[in-house]
Amino acid sequence: MKTALFPGSFDPVTNGHLDVIKRALLLFDKLIVAVSVNNTKSGLFSLEERKQLLIRACKDIPNIEVICFEGLLVQAVQKYNAAAVIRGLRAISDFEYEFQMAMMNRELNKACETIFLMPSPEYSFLSSRMIKEIASFGGDISTFVPTVVVDAIRQKALNRKKINE
Ligand code: ADP
Repeated sequence: MKTALFPGSFDPVTNGHLDVIKRALLLFDKLIVAVSVNNTKSGLFSLEERKQLLIRACKDIPNIEVICFEGLLVQAVQKYNAAAVIRGLRAISDFEYEFQMAMMNRELNKACETIFLMPSPEYSFLSSRMIKEIASFGGDISTFVPTVVVDAIRQKALNRKKINE
């Protein structure tokens, strides 16, 4: 059984991520979606919230496991016996960073292969950062993210409003 690992911040999961997940599952028997602790990006959702949102967004997709991980990606790859790392490529602007990371991971572990998957064009401009920005100004994000994320972002805004009242 071939397993792949799809790491990312998923803050929050978008329809672009789900597109990549479904494509990866056409190639592999099992996909481990690995939510990473991210010290460089400002987070909206906690690690556990991001994991729960992914679990709920993927509830109808078989052969998926959602985990959290901290540390080196190559360690997670080894731990879960993954045959490949999956990353999404939206545009050429993603490429340089992704290429560098893939090469470094292979340097750290010769067996660590990275596979890049392109989403459908309608998702190619989507990013979690943009979703957070649109939502923060009250914009409609419902066509870009699963319903569970729309609800969770709405709930966060309500909680914030209550705190500020
Ligand atoms: P990271 O902080 O690791 O980049 P992200 O959650 O932003 O975490 O992205 C995780 C992976 O999903 C990355 O490979 C990224 O390129 C990919 N990705 C993000 N948004 C999209 C999208 N709209 N379409 C395809 N891939 C995407």
